Amino acid sequence: MAFEGLTEKLSAAFKKLRGKGRLTEADVKEAMREIRVALLEADVNFKIVKQFVATVTERAVGSDVLESLTPAQMIVKIVNEELTNLMGSETAKLNISPKPPTVVMLVGLNGAGKTTNGAKLAGYMKKQHGKRPLLVACDTFRPAAITQLEVVGGQLDVPVFQMGQIDPIDIAKAGIEHARKHGNDIVFIDTAGRLHVDEELMEQLKDMKAAISPDEILLIVDAMIGQDAVNAAKTFDEALDITGVMLTKLDGDARGGAALSIKAVTGKPIKFVGVGEKLDQIEVFHPDRMASRILGMGDVLSLIEKAQQNFDMQKAAELEQKLRKNKFTLADFYEQLAQIKNMGSLADIAGMLPGVNAKALEGANVDERALARTEAIILSMTPAERENPSLLNNSRKKRIAAGSGTQVVDINRLLKQFEMMQQVTKQFSGGRMKRKAGLFGK
Ligand code: GDP
Repeated sequence: MAFEGLTEKLSAAFKKLRGKGRLTEADVKEAMREIRVALLEADVNFKIVKQFVATVTERAVGSDVLESLTPAQMIVKIVNEELTNLMGSETAKLNISPKPPTVVMLVGLNGAGKTTNGAKLAGYMKKQHGKRPLLVACDTFRPAAITQLEVVGGQLDVPVFQMGQIDPIDIAKAGIEHARKHGNDIVFIDTAGRLHVDEELMEQLKDMKAAISPDEILLIVDAMIGQDAVNAAKTFDEALDITGVMLTKLDGDARGGAALSIKAVTGKPIKFVGVGEKLDQIEVFHPDRMASRILGMGDVLSLIEKAQQNFDMQKAAELEQKLRKNKFTLADFYEQLAQIKNMGSLADIAGMLPGVNAKALEGANVDERALARTEAIILSMTPAERENPSLLNNSRKKRIAAGSGTQVVDINRLLKQFEMMQQVTKQFSGGRMKRKAGLFGK
């Protein structure tokens, strides 16, 4: 995940301050120097770094920081607020037209992730906002783009409109008309890119903008290219007056410079981020939560939202009934695992927790393998075995081990854990739980 180095360096700077009862101006100066270096190493635009440090220093020295009882915390608070401001303070949403369909034009360089993330956006609007999106294939420059869009659209059950390799403006217009006729209330236009910013591309995109008057021009840009992403954003904005940015591949960007600089350089907000290759790996960009994440304060709100999106409340209620009646089986256990897996990798989840740094995550991968093994074992059982593990004699265990690529000892370990879990739930269902309503949030 992004910002690992930055989080570590900022924490180190704050830790030094924390050790002191009172701060002198020299302490503040030293901390600011470290913050400056940390931001530059994170590949943040140097002008922005200069401005940022000046603002934080001014607030730190000008306010009562030096006099306050917890000067270190005051500085963390100021840095947190200024990081939030830097990234845009408010969460920016897509511009939705009062007169459907909303037209979103997706622009960007080749390889930035336009096609994939166009589909992610369509899937997100469908799942989270109940929209009926249409993807329109106007990238007639890259030969495989149309097929690729059809494939990703198909995976999300989002229709794709295409007319082959004809004039992209004609396709865009026909696509919008098609949406109007078929009740699609949001249209994502996938446009052509180039390897580098070039005049011809900009002219084509300007013509398309003039022809379809989109509600939103969203620039898709790759976070991993750092300041080049910021420069691309600047050029696209100057030519097209974009309305927002989706920053992709944040999962692979250890530094985070683009995320921190784009708003300050272009004045245009980051609206979404792509955090993986899978089509559900998209997140709304919340500047305040991102700032907390950078400062190692965690992003508990995003974590809760993720849980709410992925946990099926109906199933949770059924599970609670089963626990009460002591009928929790391996099949239920498996369902729980599947729900946890839906939330993404354990490393991603852990990264949103306060106080968890990159180093602590290294161990998380091991757990993830254990999770996969447990899942494979349960999947290799027959339904009857999942309901009633006492059926599992030695020959059945051998069959399951062969089927799941594990050893009999792994199966025994799982059964032992499951037995312990049942014992605990038995104690709960014995009465304590009835009084203590609310295990699953009711
Ligand atoms: P386009 O040329 O701009 O249409 O780019 P594509 O949609 O074909 O994406 C280029 C590559 O980036 C593909 O391999 C995608 O799977 C990958 N990709 C897109 N978004 C993300 C992301 O958020 N994280 C990661 N790790 N890979 C991504």
